[in-house]
Amino acid sequence: MNRKTQIVVVGGGAGGLELVRRLGAKYGRKRHDIILVDKNLSHIWKPLLHEVAAGSLDANLDEVGYRDHCSRWGYRFFQGSLESIDRVARTISLAPVKDEDGSELIAGHTIRYDILVLALGSVSNDFGVPGVKEHCLYLDSREQADRFRTRLLNHCLRVSRAMLRDPSADEQVRVAIVGGGATGVELAAELYNAAAGLRHYGLEVFDESRLHVTLLEAGPRILPALPEKLADAARFELERLGVEVRPATQVVEARPRQLITRDGAVIEADLMVWAAGVKGADFLAGLGLETNARNQIIVTDTLQTTVDPNIFALGDCASYTPPGEGRPVPPRAQAAHQMAAVVFANIVRLQQGRPLKHFVYRDKGSLVSLSRFSTVGSLMGNLIGGSMAIEGRLARFIYTSLYRLHLIGIHGWVKATFLMAVGRVNRIVRPKLKLH
Ligand SMILES: Cc1cc2nc3c(=O)[nH]c(=O)nc-3n(C[C@H](O)[C@H](O)[C@H](O)COP(=O)(O)OP(=O)(O)OC[C@H]3O[C@@H](n4cnc5c(N)ncnc54)[C@H](O)[C@@H]3O)c2cc1C
Repeated sequence: MNRKTQIVVVGGGAGGLELVRRLGAKYGRKRHDIILVDKNLSHIWKPLLHEVAAGSLDANLDEVGYRDHCSRWGYRFFQGSLESIDRVARTISLAPVKDEDGSELIAGHTIRYDILVLALGSVSNDFGVPGVKEHCLYLDSREQADRFRTRLLNHCLRVSRAMLRDPSADEQVRVAIVGGGATGVELAAELYNAAAGLRHYGLEVFDESRLHVTLLEAGPRILPALPEKLADAARFELERLGVEVRPATQVVEARPRQLITRDGAVIEADLMVWAAGVKGADFLAGLGLETNARNQIIVTDTLQTTVDPNIFALGDCASYTPPGEGRPVPPRAQAAHQMAAVVFANIVRLQQGRPLKHFVYRDKGSLVSLSRFSTVGSLMGNLIGGSMAIEGRLARFIYTSLYRLHLIGIHGWVKATFLMAVGRVNRIVRPKLKLH
């Protein structure tokens, strides 16, 4: 009896979930066995996490349950965290899944593969700065975003109660964000949006003037990936909201409620968020594949790993440097999306014995949302002949289109269109803030 070709994708994020949908739609369960493995039971698009953290988005409404998604698209789902790969036996090992009390729910097990795709994403890079792990929060996952929101709301409540007791009290919620890239900038603006709404939800004496956000960036300016003019526009907007923007400020240590800078300054904060760049998770370096100094798996132009053509890697966990370019493709949702399309095409070509496609990254530009206050960014493309700076409504429209494209990528046109319509209705009928 012919054994089914087993294609295993580990990581159901921006790239991996799109890939299994396409594989499931193409092959179904007849000739192939498509398996998705993820350590979580559901997917939330990472670029939404700053909104989840600020409370302006209810992740329950936007997350996608893998069990439901797989039954619709003809693949199988296993919950589990990848621990190791046996390239000789062609199996992966998953760690045991434990419940809240720490007791074992699913024992550790192995899964056979013919083709393996690693789409494991990234984690925040603390660059070994002492105290960051212990005292700062990250925005790498839904749990971390939820944790941030709970702590933020508790601080807001404390300040609100203190001001009710003594209206002359000068109480503030102090948030320090390390990293002036897109994540840090978007979070800073979103916090002011959320703080402005809190008084409508029971914290009558709280408003955005009670929030003090400090944005610290080691480089000479925020948003280094954007043209200077746009970064200046974003800084102007942030400062207008009340954010204290501190470029050329390198944090060298984190202590309880304190960040220490290279020049010895102490920044006091109730909540400290580390968003200063990403790297691959540490265990990637021990998988027996070639990795770079940031634990990312090095791939060839067909997105196969350098040591094993049966293993592909894509998205944030992969490192591909186009020929003649000194820099690898950046860890972005658009890169994960483009890589998923090429890995899909190459898996199909492998089955057909055809030559594989070469990955060419097309940078469509970068957009940064300053919540409802503004959106800035640059568009790239042949049509406009290079790079074009955009701001305002057009930029906002294109920014939200990225999420729409992701919805189409994981659900197909029909369901995605319904979900977008439901999203519009929800924005009208549901609370503007998630307060629990
Ligand atoms: C707050 C924030 C804002 C962002 N904004 C933007 C933006 O505006 N535009 C943009 O282009 N990019 C943005 N990004 C970056 C973008 O989210 C990532 O580049 C993109 O999600 C990468 O996709 P991926 O498929 O590689 O990984 P991910 O989407 O991170 O998915 C990785 C998956 O792997 C799973 N996983 C991890 N480890 C294991 C394991 N050991 N075993 C099993 N499963 C595992 C995870 O649970 C997850 O489902 C943002 C990121 C953040 C955090």
